[in-house]
Amino acid sequence: MRKDHLLVSLFLSTILCSAEQANAQSKSTAIAAIRQEEIKKDLFTLADDHFRGREAGTPDELKAAMWLAEQARKAGLEPAGDDGTYFQFYPLIRERVGDRSTVKIGNRTFDLWKDVIIWEPCFATVDAPIVFVTNPDHVDAETIKGKVVALQFTEQGQSDPRKVIPWRYVSFVVRDWALKLANKGAKAILFVSDDRAEQAWNRAIPDRIRGTYRIEGRPSRQYLNGIPIVWVKKEALDLVRQPNQTFQANVYGEAFTYPSVNVVAKVKGTDAKLANEYVLFSAHTDHDGVREVEPGKDSILNGADDNATACAALLAIGRAFHKQPAKRSALFIWHGAEERGLLGSYYFAEHPTVPAQSLVAVLNADMIGMNAPDSAGLLGITPPHLNSADLANIALAENAKGPKFKLDTAWDKATHFEGFYFRSDHLPYVRKNIPAIFFTTLTHPLYHTPADEAATINIEKLTKMTKWMYATGFSVANAPERPKIVEGFKLEK
Ligand SMILES: [Zn+2]
Repeated sequence: MRKDHLLVSLFLSTILCSAEQANAQSKSTAIAAIRQEEIKKDLFTLADDHFRGREAGTPDELKAAMWLAEQARKAGLEPAGDDGTYFQFYPLIRERVGDRSTVKIGNRTFDLWKDVIIWEPCFATVDAPIVFVTNPDHVDAETIKGKVVALQFTEQGQSDPRKVIPWRYVSFVVRDWALKLANKGAKAILFVSDDRAEQAWNRAIPDRIRGTYRIEGRPSRQYLNGIPIVWVKKEALDLVRQPNQTFQANVYGEAFTYPSVNVVAKVKGTDAKLANEYVLFSAHTDHDGVREVEPGKDSILNGADDNATACAALLAIGRAFHKQPAKRSALFIWHGAEERGLLGSYYFAEHPTVPAQSLVAVLNADMIGMNAPDSAGLLGITPPHLNSADLANIALAENAKGPKFKLDTAWDKATHFEGFYFRSDHLPYVRKNIPAIFFTTLTHPLYHTPADEAATINIEKLTKMTKWMYATGFSVANAPERPKIVEGFKLEK
């Protein structure tokens, strides 16, 4: 290298160094605004019984959203929702089985939600003989055409490890078999419990009464259209199996809308040009509300880890950006109705309140305060889920500089049985080809139970996760170039 070149390069590296130092310095000033005590306070408030589990489709989610917007305002964030507010409201469409629906087997009338569960809403009148089958794979269309197919839940052919949890076992058997039998011409499908399915009965009732949710433009979540799926308890097995048995049902569906809301806030960037681009920090407000899981026990699912942890983290990150804005703007979204099928994030991805092209990266967090203190998950960093190597590398570098979490590598794999990558709010953005990663400390035995309470959260770990997410976002927001999408990126499903 010639001397003048050396001088130029020394000069350049001095400038670059000082720019990086300034970046690091401003980052460390701002990171002091992320305080464990404040995170703890926000977490405990949001996960309190006061908000009754923040269920989408109830006033409780809206109440929690109002509280979050007020905290965002206090943190110095500007509104970035509709019409100069912190809110983006959208209609949830709820579809459920009508209470007038009736089921009769032989001469016995079954009481809806007591002796019989109707799996999903539809409009159907059925009066047909029952044919009992033992294996839906080994039955031909000729045998079942125009008949009601009855079968007992069985583990046969269910090699999925999820079957160990009765509720999931039931869900997967229904999903797999109902469709097969409907395609072969069944008029209705009648499931009878085995011992394992019977264990899921009490949990299934409130779930099926609740029904399913969608938003305009997203498909209905019913498996079958116009073919009732009915489930009775094990005690009805003999009745169902009687020769020449008959089945009658009138099934009705109901649909109505209810508002849900995304809370949207921002901190403007400092660079005249880059301020028009946004780094999106994402969490979800809602959880599973009040359910009768076990009579006499706590029935409120407060969702402290899922996802009050990330809601509190976003407020803390917001305070840090307010103290020290980056070149690009920071956008904060507390999504609604995640537990009902990522509906808030699908809605925002379809109707962004900032230009869609201006979203440079999505940093989503869901459940970030449990499990071993030194481990974490970062999803979206393993092909085929890796949609931006640039973004993944920044997050990995910030982990190496900061918390040094041992990163789980199993849950991001396409072969992992939980399919966890597909279960949080980054997904709708990934489908829009926006670079995205998913911060999480993964599931645990308290997941989606009333025991997911604030007192069980490791606040120190939650604070580390918050700082890591902040540092990643701050680096992305100050980088000269926006993260690129991996060429040929395509999800496996
Ligand atoms: Zn969640």
